[in-house]
Amino acid sequence: MKILVINCGSSSLKYQLIDMERENVLAKGLVERIGIDEPLLKHEPAGKEEVKISADIPNHSVAIKMVIDALTHPEYGVIKDIKEINAVGHRVVHGGEKFANSVLITPEVKKAIEECSDLAPLHNPPNLIGIEACEEVMPNVPQVAVFDTAFHQTMPDYAFLYGIPYDKYQKYGIRRYGFHGTSHKYVSARAASLLGKPFEQTKIVTCHLGNGASIAAIMGGHSIDTSMGFTPLEGLMMGTRSGDIDPAVISYLMNKEGLSAEQVIECLNKRSGALGISGVSSDFRDIEQAAEEGNPRAQLTLKMYAYKVRKYIGSYAAAMGGLDAIVFTAGIGENSISLRKMICEGLEFLGAKIDDERNNVRGKECEISTPDSKVKIFLIPTNEELVIARDTRRIVGWERPMS
Ligand code: AMP
Repeated sequence: MKILVINCGSSSLKYQLIDMERENVLAKGLVERIGIDEPLLKHEPAGKEEVKISADIPNHSVAIKMVIDALTHPEYGVIKDIKEINAVGHRVVHGGEKFANSVLITPEVKKAIEECSDLAPLHNPPNLIGIEACEEVMPNVPQVAVFDTAFHQTMPDYAFLYGIPYDKYQKYGIRRYGFHGTSHKYVSARAASLLGKPFEQTKIVTCHLGNGASIAAIMGGHSIDTSMGFTPLEGLMMGTRSGDIDPAVISYLMNKEGLSAEQVIECLNKRSGALGISGVSSDFRDIEQAAEEGNPRAQLTLKMYAYKVRKYIGSYAAAMGGLDAIVFTAGIGENSISLRKMICEGLEFLGAKIDDERNNVRGKECEISTPDSKVKIFLIPTNEELVIARDTRRIVGWERPMS
């Protein structure tokens, strides 16, 4: 069974074709600048050179057709015929309260995704466009939606509600939803397996530290709390996002600088976080280098970042009443040796001790705590595409005859 995984943005489309027999990636790629000037398809067949194809790509349907052409190309393709694609799994950012699991896409599901667009105006509309483009090009192939929010639907009400009038939740769905669900789900399940314990008996804190970043408390295999909220702006300080902030700052800034609410939110989303504090970059590689060269604001950024992550780890250990493992994943979590060390310094009281030698590693699944550490610390590269492909396989059924 071969599954095409699609992650569609407003002007980009990422894809992976995965052979589910051995869960190996046959090809992956990215279409950039759809509908803008100089669009480009970068196609990477497994074990072969990357191919770059420029063409006129006015919309997502054309982009999908180009992806299919690349996948079936006699020279750099990996399948002979489009019919070899048995199902398509789509990343959909917001499923609201409607979806606590992945679903087969039907007209009703598309309508529900559209209704959630209010909650994720930048993400759900392009996700839907990707779904419709695939339906057009592969009308008989089942399509599955896998939601970023679904894994966190197990949060209890006392964790997901904000302390605002209850009718705002009832009328508008204002509550915490959480994101990066597929990543937290994948790495926590891997951690349970590395712990050698049934998932149902584990207490794990997962730190997805990428350009966007969130932390989750996974108890007994279920998310019971996570740092992102109504939108992906809440929680940790991120590459360009502020994370937690007193909401009164917004009106204060509006008055002081004559800005609209949208302009302040834009600043909190795009010009804050590590970029805003350091004044150097949103990329932690640049910030670490500047810090090494003695830039005090870059040094402050790293201290703030590590402090905030450590606070969340401690609060989630308290929320679960214990802790078996801490997991680091995504760009920073998988690659920044120094930030992992800074975050873990001071967690010894919890029984979590990082091992400097074991921590001297990037992008490889392994344990990085000392042999006597009561709480295990793991580095686990995330694999959101694989979770989407597995869910898609489960929903369409391995044995299902494909037309
Ligand atoms: P992601 O969103 O998961 O792709 O993560 C991207 C971010 O990971 C980049 O913006 C960098 O801040 C960070 N990153 C990637 N490689 C490194 C590295 N070697 N050291 C520190 N940070 C890194």
